[in-house]
Amino acid sequence: RLTRNDFQFIDVGRQDPQKKEARTRSREFAEIYEPFKPQEAANQSHRCLHCGNPYCEWKCPVHNYIPNWLQLVTEGNILEAAELSHKTNSLPEVCGRVCPQDRLCEGACTLNDGFGAVTIGSVEKYITDTAFAMGWRPDMSQVTWTDKKVAVIGAGPAGLGCADILVRNGVRPVVFDRYPEIGGLLTFGIPEFKLDKTVMERRRAVFEEMGIEFRLGVEVGKDIDFDTLLAEYDAVFLGMGTYKSMTGGFPGEGLPGVHKALDYLIANVNHCLGFENEPDDYVSLEGQKVVVLGGGDTAMDCNRTAIRQGAATVTCAYRRDEENMPGSKREVANAREEGVEFLFNRQPVAVVGEGKVEGVKVVRTRMGEPDENGRRRPEVVPGSEEVLPADAVVIAFGFQPSPAPWFDRFGIELDERGRVLAPEHGAYAFQTTNEKIFAGGDMVRGSDLVVTAVFEGRQAGEGILDYLGV
Ligand code: FAD
Ligand code: SF4
Repeated sequence: RLTRNDFQFIDVGRQDPQKKEARTRSREFAEIYEPFKPQEAANQSHRCLHCGNPYCEWKCPVHNYIPNWLQLVTEGNILEAAELSHKTNSLPEVCGRVCPQDRLCEGACTLNDGFGAVTIGSVEKYITDTAFAMGWRPDMSQVTWTDKKVAVIGAGPAGLGCADILVRNGVRPVVFDRYPEIGGLLTFGIPEFKLDKTVMERRRAVFEEMGIEFRLGVEVGKDIDFDTLLAEYDAVFLGMGTYKSMTGGFPGEGLPGVHKALDYLIANVNHCLGFENEPDDYVSLEGQKVVVLGGGDTAMDCNRTAIRQGAATVTCAYRRDEENMPGSKREVANAREEGVEFLFNRQPVAVVGEGKVEGVKVVRTRMGEPDENGRRRPEVVPGSEEVLPADAVVIAFGFQPSPAPWFDRFGIELDERGRVLAPEHGAYAFQTTNEKIFAGGDMVRGSDLVVTAVFEGRQAGEGILDYLGV
């Protein structure tokens, strides 16, 4: 327990948890940060200024009660901190690990102005990991069970957020997923060096104890009809994500040696976890010259996976400058430390090679006027073509909505980009154009973040409770 000192931030600087040496970590698929020790977590939490109107809370998409749980950690009261952090977030230990905090809570921290923001994400992770290790479980003793049940399609962060709200209010959720484990992209996408797979296994056990039922390895629309779910359940939530990989539309993308980012990452996870169905799906880039195209979180994960597989070189080419990269700055820094070479302001125009990949033709760009999202547009510099030698190319240009072909039959309408229409501020939060069906996460907002998917799932859960009159 620390005595209150409002000027702690002057004496104690920002200190992130210790990171494994780049040389060691770039050979293993394991988390790279060591956990905080109790005194470190308390000292870092104590740096919080307790601003009257905490910007960090507003910038956090789930509006966590950040200064309050930081105070509880300062006092050594971890179980109460865990209880409080679960009031707003269904997966705090995951968000603490993978949120791009520099753009969210920590970016908005008052101390992020020369003193160094409070290490909010690492403390959030510390609270839940420590509480679980101490045997803490969400308190379900006050729940009054109703006779209502809801089918949730998708065990990603959106589906899990929705199921968490429902079960805590006495409505039985049954979560269907085509994959053999829960988590969606948390398990089959984000690699172990950012999020250890045991984190979701532990969370699954906790959710099951709370009363959430998982039916895994079941694809809705193939193994079970959507009609059956609509008939058997009082409402349905869709949290099915976005899975159509974007392509560059340039020549050579079909050459052997060109890989889609998510296929490459999922096959690697399956290989590591022993879930491999088709051994041929696994791609090892050992000993190869690899070029990764893209600048988001997916591209960083591909870069760092290739490094761990023992690639000879990994070069990441991105068409804007470093300032305008969409990914988390922390992950770009980690990739660089692990040996990834970045080439900014390079736009691919073709993959070249005779019968297999031999290189990527790129042109140089310079930054022009901002686009509709405020990010500066890249403009091609004439006569700047060059070929980057490569044995393998990974394309990580992001994802487009992938609505199921059967949505139409159930009156589930989409917007012009293929996202499911489910407004946050409609009659019931996140209700689709079919009153019994709700939706949230990437399939509604387009590919985004874990924390925004959790938020939408939770809000949709509230919408379903209102709709059911619970
Ligand atoms: P998903 O996580 O995609 O889950 C959807 C689930 O629905 C899947 O499990 C799928 O199997 C299931 N499903 C779909 N159709 C059916 C069906 N017919 N029947 C049964 N099940 C079905 N975000 C961050 O905040 N930080 C990061 O560091 C980060 N890194 C990322 C790295 C990669 C490689 C990728 C691809 C994304 C990353 N993201 C990151 C984004 C984040 O993972 C997503 O925004 C988030 O997972 C979306 O959650 P969701 O629940 O909407 O969808
Ligand atoms: Fe920050 Fe994400 Fe945690 Fe919110 S959920 S406090 S944005 S790490």
